[in-house]
Amino acid sequence: MNPFEPLIRQDALSSWRAFLPKVAAYASARNHVKPGHENVSRLGACIRFRTLLEDEIIEDTLNQHTFQVAEKWLQEICWRRYWRGWLEMRPEVWSNWRRQVRASRQTLSAETLARAEAVSAGRSGVACMDKIARELIETGYLHNHARMWWASFWIHVEQLPWELGADFFFRHLLDADPASNTLSWRWVAGLQTPGKTYLVRLSNIEKYAPSYLRGNETGSERLEDGVVSALFPQEIANVERSPLIDYPTSLAQTTGRRGLWLHTDDLSPEIGPLTDLAPVSIAAYLSEPVYKNIYELSPQRIASLRTVTQDGLDRAAAHFACPATVLEAEDPVLGLGSWAKEAGLAEVVAFAPLIGPVHDILSRLKLRLGEIDVRLTLIRRPSDVTAFSFATAGFFPFWQKMSRHLNPPH
Ligand SMILES: Cc1cc2nc3c(=O)[nH]c(=O)nc-3n(C[C@H](O)[C@H](O)[C@H](O)COP(=O)(O)OP(=O)(O)OC[C@H]3O[C@@H](n4cnc5c(N)ncnc54)[C@H](O)[C@@H]3O)c2cc1C
Repeated sequence: MNPFEPLIRQDALSSWRAFLPKVAAYASARNHVKPGHENVSRLGACIRFRTLLEDEIIEDTLNQHTFQVAEKWLQEICWRRYWRGWLEMRPEVWSNWRRQVRASRQTLSAETLARAEAVSAGRSGVACMDKIARELIETGYLHNHARMWWASFWIHVEQLPWELGADFFFRHLLDADPASNTLSWRWVAGLQTPGKTYLVRLSNIEKYAPSYLRGNETGSERLEDGVVSALFPQEIANVERSPLIDYPTSLAQTTGRRGLWLHTDDLSPEIGPLTDLAPVSIAAYLSEPVYKNIYELSPQRIASLRTVTQDGLDRAAAHFACPATVLEAEDPVLGLGSWAKEAGLAEVVAFAPLIGPVHDILSRLKLRLGEIDVRLTLIRRPSDVTAFSFATAGFFPFWQKMSRHLNPPH
């Protein structure tokens, strides 16, 4: 398991406190890929699962640094919410990706599938790219620049389908995020911003990551400037934007028995709109079985899901002073239904799942709970509602609105 990427809240908080002074140097330091990665925060996994909240990071940052000094850092922190908001309004981009992953495995030639397998196992023959693939498999972490180079190598040099490369990342990255991963891969492929692709260049790797090249430059002529050319997608389907779902941001009063369903899209119910919930029971899957069965996650990714969820469950049980149940049933919908019934609940409350694996079970879950007369109430953090509402188009207009929101003119 990656020794330097914090997962549980206590570790996340101490890593964040140690990184906070480094925010001042982040803009100039962040692009360099160095062994140990101390110039970047490595907070991706705990932010993705919300054992640490963006709201806390933003508040601490602005207490310690001026907006101008911290702007690049704040921008990066907000990128995840931008991607999430963008995907919330275009959910079919997620379902199309999953469909395409399944279809590719059925329809691609044995030769292409074998090449994809070799490249993702770190056997492409381009030593610096193979180092990146092995680092991902061994640690579950990659620096942003390494992710960009490797995704570009996969798409534009190896000419493999982006969907399978994104699937490889999703199975191994400890911070794997449906929105950040899918949309970053689409961006490298030229699908996200029409007419723009991201091209890996040897000179860029030499400048920012000499450690990947040191000692072995085998195959790097394939990455030389001018050799790699962009493989533009044949046609870009127009992605329609649907309105954001209007989830409530606070709880209504009730007299019925309430249970809290805790899931991996937000593991800090003790902070924010659910803090006064008073549930009679809490339930979670330590790692949703769908992850094992549908997504075929790596063993260390499964282990990290168990670690973060157990941490969330322990904190929730302590905060709400009520019993916590670890669900085991293979089918999460049936497991949650049985829990609600056995606990005699009138209502199940949860943070609204984001587009991704947990969201995919929602419509079945609503039906199942309806059958046993249990209400499902989904709550969204107010800061997510605000940020998501800004993500209608590109990142630049998003940031114009977001930065005014974070740093209002006096
Ligand atoms: C092809 C590709 C796939 C990616 N897949 C994922 C993914 O599955 N999950 C994921 O969290 N990020 C993903 N990213 C974005 C980014 O690479 C990681 O968030 C970042 O490298 C995490 O490392 P860090 O915490 O040390 O980053 P830092 O540089 O310390 O950044 C701090 C935080 O800001 C946010 N952030 C920074 N850069 C980005 C970015 N470009 N997009 C979104 N958020 C960002 C993250 O929450 C990150 O933890 C991907 C990028 C690319 C190019």
